[in-house]
Amino acid sequence: MSGLTTFFQYFTALLGAFLAALWLALIFWTYRDIRSRTQDNLVQILAALLAAVMGPFGVLTYLILRPRLTIDQEYQHTLEEEALLSEIEEETTCPGCGSRTHVDWQLCPTCHTHLRKACDHCDRLMELSWPVCPYCGTPVEGVSTELQGAGT
Ligand SMILES: [Zn+2]
Ligand SMILES: [Zn+2]
Repeated sequence: MSGLTTFFQYFTALLGAFLAALWLALIFWTYRDIRSRTQDNLVQILAALLAAVMGPFGVLTYLILRPRLTIDQEYQHTLEEEALLSEIEEETTCPGCGSRTHVDWQLCPTCHTHLRKACDHCDRLMELSWPVCPYCGTPVEGVSTELQGAGT
């Protein structure tokens, strides 16, 4: 009988050690995971505490409540959105024929409508109606008088 008891004691100790290791691993995993999702120290500690106190159940709760995106993913997401926005901004339509044009174009390739003009001084493109170059401040000859004529 005593041999069997020793075996059970040994077995229980082993099981206990295994569970303790698993518990520690869970805390460690949770802490590492939350650190990739938030830079808030308080949230990081709370998540680790949740795993430490409640073990597997704490980790389950954490999995439900944790931020959906990691910091890296969120950064990628912002970059993609910005790229999308700038693409939309750079696409314009031709007032002459309605086809798609680019902000860098001076002329519509379809109907040859003048879209923009180049500055005499710095050669940068600007809107046809602008009386002065926004980049170098050079006034555009003729535009201000044209606008005045249109106003009266
Ligand atoms: Zn056109
Ligand atoms: Zn200019």
